Amino acid sequence: MTFSRSSLPSEVQKLIVAFSTLPGIGPKTAQRLAYFVLTQDKNEVANLATALKEVKENLDFCKTCCFITSNEDKTICKLCEDKDPILICVVESVIDAITIEASGIHKGGFHILHGAISPMAGIGPEQLKINELFNRLKRGGTKEVIIATNPTLEGEATAMYLTKTIKENYYDIKTTRLARGLASGTDLEYSDFNTLSNAFENRTSLDI
Ligand SMILES: [Zn+2]
Repeated sequence: MTFSRSSLPSEVQKLIVAFSTLPGIGPKTAQRLAYFVLTQDKNEVANLATALKEVKENLDFCKTCCFITSNEDKTICKLCEDKDPILICVVESVIDAITIEASGIHKGGFHILHGAISPMAGIGPEQLKINELFNRLKRGGTKEVIIATNPTLEGEATAMYLTKTIKENYYDIKTTRLARGLASGTDLEYSDFNTLSNAFENRTSLDI
């Protein structure tokens, strides 16, 4: 009898498949993680399972800005509280929004896309919270959208797409991009206060 992956118990195979769906996890890492779970004690695995379950059961995305919010707090999230929607800062991740909010540089609202456009990874505008942003702009009251996606290929592609679509559909809304103070390829979450502050102050309009 020859052994192959199909000889593994179905529970392990299922776990490997589940891990492979995570971003950045290839088949080899998925196998390693599955075997690691097998060696952990029952309590640790139960804690992991509970944490996974609770994150989906108890939390949701804010209907306005797409930040994380608890199910009980459906109307407005902490990030939207007392924010003027005249200025909306668009970021790729929850961490980016927290970084900017904590710096106190930006006083307006936020919009979290939960990723960036990446044709290589099969991520288009429909996989991101972009429609939610356009629906927000449709409601009116916004004068400027500050695009603070990361200075990576994907972040730039997203910035171009947003600028183009906003220009075509919302003539009176200005779009700006953070200045190139952020080193190319550096994620926004690793920027220090001065870099971030310069990037906001010297933001420029994108010509398309
Ligand atoms: Zn919100």
